[in-house]
Amino acid sequence: MVLADLGTRLRDALSSVESGSDQEIQSMIKDIVTALLESDVNIKLVARLRDNIKNQIKDSDDKNPSHIRKRLQKIVFDELCELVDSHQEPPQPKKLKNIKQKGPAKLNSSGKKITPKSNSYVIMFVGLQGAGKTTSCTKLANYYKKRGFTVGLVCADTFRAGAYDQLKQNAIKAQIPFYGSYSEQDPVWIAREGVERFKKEQFDIIIVDTSGRHKQEQSLFDEMVQISEAVTPLQTIMVMDGSIGQAAESQALAFKEASNFGSIILTKMDGHARGGGAISAVAATKTPIIFIGTGEHIGDFEVFKPASFILKLLGIGDIQGLMDHVRGLNLQNDESHKKSIENFKEGKFTLRDFQTQMNNFLKMGPLTNIASMIPGMSNFLNQVGEEETSSKIKNMIYIMDSMTGKELDSDGTIFIKEPLRIVRVARGAGCSSVEVEMVLQQQRMMSSMASNAKLMQNNPMVNSPQM
Ligand code: GDP
Repeated sequence: MVLADLGTRLRDALSSVESGSDQEIQSMIKDIVTALLESDVNIKLVARLRDNIKNQIKDSDDKNPSHIRKRLQKIVFDELCELVDSHQEPPQPKKLKNIKQKGPAKLNSSGKKITPKSNSYVIMFVGLQGAGKTTSCTKLANYYKKRGFTVGLVCADTFRAGAYDQLKQNAIKAQIPFYGSYSEQDPVWIAREGVERFKKEQFDIIIVDTSGRHKQEQSLFDEMVQISEAVTPLQTIMVMDGSIGQAAESQALAFKEASNFGSIILTKMDGHARGGGAISAVAATKTPIIFIGTGEHIGDFEVFKPASFILKLLGIGDIQGLMDHVRGLNLQNDESHKKSIENFKEGKFTLRDFQTQMNNFLKMGPLTNIASMIPGMSNFLNQVGEEETSSKIKNMIYIMDSMTGKELDSDGTIFIKEPLRIVRVARGAGCSSVEVEMVLQQQRMMSSMASNAKLMQNNPMVNSPQM
């Protein structure tokens, strides 16, 4: 079953509980179990999840249906998070943070600049051919570039014809410096040379793409070890095709033994991938998944956090993910964005914040990825495509553009007290009052998520640092 369908099935199962009777709960558990098994999740993991849900729900005497529903949601959410969480931090995250702490250039006694010892963070990519290594290298480089780091790409893949050209084209498009060679055949030499060059130029992050093979074989593992010894990476990332389902576990274990990588990027986790199997299989190897690739374009790349992933899967929305996404836009000097972040930290989310964030999303694309983080939008998205999502978001912006400053800075209750305002805004935006009410309803959901996020600020599962 593809991921989008899994989300719908899980949501349907949860919302099927109305009275909270034992029969309903049993049927919900059965639906969840079937959906997970059909998504390729390992049978033992599913059985454990089923038992955990059953045990936790029977521990309570509270028979109030609404309390039962809430508790079930929480239990299922926690258990699903558990399923995809490796409980491991990616290695050396602090070192990367320290990179930004460079002081002014130091001069020697004759006034010449002293080149400080390199502080570059070297990342090496490994994985089978076709897994998406070259694509993910550029995606990761772009991710860090957008966050203010200087990044260099080294192509040490001499095995696959065209690998250097591919990396070069991607790098040029994203304006990221690159190094490679058409004539040199020794990948170890290229890797060492490229890393040295970028280190001399004081790059913050150097990403080395290595060769793959069609299958796991000794020559690939030998080459990985040699390159690793030559460039001594602080982080080795395995790139794996997420559509391989449960086979991900044995592949991850074999690579782990050979290259001792610290984290994983799962690719091809687009809405139509059978992703449930790969995520849970990899989590079972106790290796953190740090990003997932959700398409062929450079921006189709998401930080993987178990709680955010499950929130999105269940269609609850992921406000933390939204904020992460927007952080990538380099909006540090944008006043309305800064205000919006401040509000969010205080657990608030006004209509103006909603308007600011919606405008930001339009700059980011692809909209279907982003809109799935907005509470209440995922049901709608399952029925429509990119074009309709885009027009829906634009419509919401027109509606908020028709509000007064007082209305935008409010928490939305002003419209409940004075409903005629809704009619006026609808007229201004050329839409129906129902559409305005939908915007208000979505802002209310975001606002309640912002206050929940504040409450969860100390929850390590939601705030786990990324590299
Ligand atoms: P490599 O041999 O491991 O370097 O793999 P490539 O980076 O060349 O990728 C192989 C193919 O997978 C290319 O056609 C990529 O466009 C495609 N690809 C990579 N990542 C993703 C992804 O996240 N989603 C989709 N749909 N395709 C991807």
